[in-house]
Amino acid sequence: MTFKTHTCGQLRTQDAGKSVTLAGWVHRRRDHGGLVFIDLRDRWGITQVVFNPDTSPEAHTAARDLRAEYVVKVIGVVRCRPTGLENPDLATGEIEVVAKEAEILNPAKTPPFYINEDVPVDEALRLRYRYLDLRRQRMQSNLVLRHKVVKYIRDFLSDEGFIEVETPILFKSTPEGARDYLVPSRVHPGNFYALPQSPQQLKQLLMVAGYERYFQIARCFRDEDQRGDRQPEFTQLDLEMSFVDREDVIDTIERLYTAIAEQISDKKLLFKPFKRLSHHEAMERFGTDRPDMRFGMELADISDIAAGSDFRVFSQTVADGGTVKGLNAQGCGVYSRKQVDELAALVQEFDAKGLAWLALDEKGDVRSSFAKFLTDEQVQAIIKRLDGQPGDLLLFVADRPQITNEALSRLRATLGDRLGLRNPDVLALCWVVDFPFVEWNEEEQRWDPSHHLFTAPMDEDIPLLDANPGQARGKQYDLVCNGHEIAGGSIRIHRRELQEQVFSLIGLTIEDARDQFGHMLEAFEYGTPPHGGIATGIDRWVMLLADEPNIREVIAFPKSQSAADLMANTPSPVTDEQLKTLHLKLDL
Ligand code: ASP
Repeated sequence: MTFKTHTCGQLRTQDAGKSVTLAGWVHRRRDHGGLVFIDLRDRWGITQVVFNPDTSPEAHTAARDLRAEYVVKVIGVVRCRPTGLENPDLATGEIEVVAKEAEILNPAKTPPFYINEDVPVDEALRLRYRYLDLRRQRMQSNLVLRHKVVKYIRDFLSDEGFIEVETPILFKSTPEGARDYLVPSRVHPGNFYALPQSPQQLKQLLMVAGYERYFQIARCFRDEDQRGDRQPEFTQLDLEMSFVDREDVIDTIERLYTAIAEQISDKKLLFKPFKRLSHHEAMERFGTDRPDMRFGMELADISDIAAGSDFRVFSQTVADGGTVKGLNAQGCGVYSRKQVDELAALVQEFDAKGLAWLALDEKGDVRSSFAKFLTDEQVQAIIKRLDGQPGDLLLFVADRPQITNEALSRLRATLGDRLGLRNPDVLALCWVVDFPFVEWNEEEQRWDPSHHLFTAPMDEDIPLLDANPGQARGKQYDLVCNGHEIAGGSIRIHRRELQEQVFSLIGLTIEDARDQFGHMLEAFEYGTPPHGGIATGIDRWVMLLADEPNIREVIAFPKSQSAADLMANTPSPVTDEQLKTLHLKLDL
């Protein structure tokens, strides 16, 4: 190579005496009176270079002009560092390069933030100068980790007979349930492509086409409100298999994810095999279908005890069809009123009316917001149900089941953080299965698919689709890790009649169904094999492996919280001419 004989992470003591050429960025520069030291950085590491005015005056003069982030080429000789001066934090810390020649390939302006130190920097500034942010060690190791994960996936699935097929980015609205990004067609005035929310229909059509085992590292686009682990465009491992049932898909992903966790990360898998929960059980025990299983603190239902009490908040809730559930914050019996009020404010954010509490002191004596309305037996029964011990704090929400579950699951997560129960070194992977097939949409007064339109109902539940759809279960499965949903998939419908029945259940007229999904219905008549698949979020999985708080940290060029690219400054206006070509007029 013209500019380097070695990388900056490569040289060791056995290279001592070699003449080498290195090139990279000035990471740090120290001037020790006579000697100048440069930490030279490239993607592979850092090497210390010494400039001595006595032995190489010209190189030393060049080194005096060097500043952070200058790009330089250095020719010199490797030598072992004197005893006591080694740097155990650097892979190259036992050697240094004594410069003979140095050439500045390009100077650099002073960067707007430190690249050589992991200090907090305002995220907007980082995104504005993303190419500098990406120079930082943390970001480099995140992207390298991401590359390793994706490469592992490709190799693993290829070995199992899968082939990677690209599907179009310009396509048609897909039914994943979010808003579409639309692209106007110049050639077909007034018509639009939609960017795919996922390759769902196309991967199913690849099964019709006989490919049997497909995958794709697929970019998906969803115009949703942004949150920590969402982006307008994200990447998923999209996979589909023919002649399979639920267990085959689950087994493939479980082996793949186990191997990635064990071979690419230092994290420990808490469950091998992964845990399995029914949707019902997840909701009962954790109040959510994506529970963080790294810790217990399970919810306990006390509706039966509450129903017979004189505490109206409890008894009336149950009478109105609600539930009373609680959890045990072990060792928090000493919490002050103010601390409990903070927790109450948290559940109120999730629409719960309030938080009832019962604290047990070291002797087991009770302090409580509601115990005075209950009999001794009722109080003892509640303590027993939550396994309350001296020093514990029992917390309760009484509300509509959905609100009770949501509020307590958020409370559980917050307490899990506060009490240090969410061990970052552990991955708790868990399959959630047996989801309800449809959910009632109160606003629109209709059934919505819990997953998507192409998910099959359980065979034994098909008769329920007419009589009692709310009771039917779907062949859906989700993979959850540490409280995040990291994958979701299903066995699909592969017969036209059943697909049409499901379309009509969720309120699509025959005309609409043919209009939107005619190609699918038609394809189902040409010998469609039973098939199923899954999509796993690559960004979220890498985020968890990298211990990052949000997926922007593992995406090279992410959008900001408001879906903007702060570096290229987009979305941005276009010229009138461009609009005209697309037959568009703005109405702002
Ligand atoms: N298309 C679904 C999604 O992206 C996943 C699947 O059913 O395979 O969420």
